[in-house]
Formats: sequence, structure tokens, C-alpha cells
Amino acid sequence: MVATPIGNLEDMTPRAIRLLSEVDLIAAEDTRHSGKLLMHFGIEAKTEALHEHNERSQVPRLVEFLRSGKSIAFITDAGTPLVSDPGFHLVRAARQAGIAVVPVPGACAAIAALSAAGLPSDRFVFEGFPPAKSIARRAVFEKLGEESRTLIFYESPHRILESLGDMTEIFGPEREAVLARELTKQFETVRGGTLAELSAWVGRDAHQQLGEFVILIHGVPRAEREAVDDDAERILKILLEELPVSQAAALAARITGLKKNKLYEYALSLKGRDE
Ligand code: SAM
Repeated sequence: MVATPIGNLEDMTPRAIRLLSEVDLIAAEDTRHSGKLLMHFGIEAKTEALHEHNERSQVPRLVEFLRSGKSIAFITDAGTPLVSDPGFHLVRAARQAGIAVVPVPGACAAIAALSAAGLPSDRFVFEGFPPAKSIARRAVFEKLGEESRTLIFYESPHRILESLGDMTEIFGPEREAVLARELTKQFETVRGGTLAELSAWVGRDAHQQLGEFVILIHGVPRAEREAVDDDAERILKILLEELPVSQAAALAARITGLKKNKLYEYALSLKGRDE
């Protein structure tokens, strides 16, 4: 599993170059795209396409090839294989067949962005691409509304504005975030601010809507997450005696003005304590 650069060819490691030159076969997400990379580094090797549409069907043959003692390097269009990229079925099948799978680390947009964002990095959640349709996307954000760890998303230029808009509504306009665009490339931009500021900034400047994006969002501070006051707790406890958790949380939210998500989580923790 060989990581390749996410923009800047200087991020190709000497080990990756050597291994790609030595293997019997390079399986690549897009052979034309990777052809340019291989040519740049003077790597001559047999290549074969392995992408999300043919991975499952090709894996048994590739595993047989490996079993016969041959070696395969797998590369995707950019960055680390399997991270919002194909490779999972191949790795799983190879490991199940007792074949050694060796990581050859290198660039990964999520980790590169995290390393420069200045958001808490001791715990983080990688969410990959949010769903393309707004309803599903908002549902994903709703579920993450109370997450205390830093959230990391990938997003495409077609949906960057819509996603930032939905994030602003659901995580709140004041939530701190960082937008990392075109990392390692000529127009690299890493900008922090509130979600409302970032959303307005991208909306105003068409240049900021081009390229590749990582969006990082500050988690909810633990103290804030757990701030359900005594009154709200008392109301919730009474409602929980009569109602299921979601209804009790919804009613308590209407009575107290606190967030339903917060009360729902708190109600679950109360139930957990009782059991
Ligand atoms: N496997 C890759 C990795 O290790 O990061 C990710 C592949 S995924 C198909 C492509 C997405 O990664 C892009 O849409 C963007 O969200 C993010 N990405 C890749 N390169 C990037 C870059 N140079 N700057 C910012 N985001 C990038």
C-alpha cells in the first residue's frame, strides 16, 4: 500500500520510488493518472486498473497472483490508499490469505490538514466525504452535533458552499473551524475562523471554491456538552418516568430551551446510570 503525493511531487518518498520500481505489478486506481507520476520518477512497471467499480471482481485474481510469490504495489490517484479511496477489499482478502500487507506511508490530506490547523489534535474523528444530498448530509451533521473530538471532512469543489452552509446551521455559526484548500500546491490556503465567517468568505470569493478541501471543525468542549443544569435534569427525570428517551428529550427541549441533542444524550447517560 504505497502513499503518493497529494499535489507536490517532492512529497514522494524515496522508499515509494524504490518499491514501485521493484514490484512485479502496480495496481493503480487510474492507470492514466498514475502513468504521469510513474513517468516523472522514471518508473517502468506493468500497471493494471483497480478502482471502486472493479475491485471486488479483480481481488481473487490478484490474491492468486500474490500467492504465486509475485508482488503488487497499490497506489491511488493521490495520498494514502483506503483513506476515502479504494484498496480495502484487496487488503482484507490478502491478509485473510496470509499474505503480508506492507504500508508505505506518505501524504494524507486529512493528517496534513490536522497538522497545520491548530485545532485540538489529541483526539479526532475522520468522517470522509459528507453525503452528496442535503438531507442525508444534514442528518450526518446532526448526529455529530455534540461530538467533543475534532471533526475532519473531505469535500469537493461542487459542494463546498452547500456543505459549509449546512455545517453553519447545524454546528452553529460561532463554531470554530479551519478550511484547508489545495494543500502542498501553488494555491494552498489554510484559514481558520467561525463557520459563519468561513462560509461567507468562500461564498464571496469564487477562487476559494476551486480545488480540493479538508474541513476541520472544533469539537464541543466537554464542559459545555455536559452543561445540563439542575432544573433541566429534574424535568428530564420526570418525563423519563412516563416517556421514551427521544420524546422525553424533545419535550424537555421545548420546556427548557436547551438543545434536544444535548438532552437526549444526557437522558441516555441517566438511563445508563440506572441500569
Ligand atoms: N487518499 C487521499 C488522502 O490520503 O488524503 C484522499 C482521496 S479522496 C478521493 C480526495 C479528497 O481528499 C479531496 O476531495 C479532498 O477533500 C482531499 N484532498 C486530497 N488532496 C488534497 C489537497 N491537496 N488539499 C486539500 N484536500 C485534499
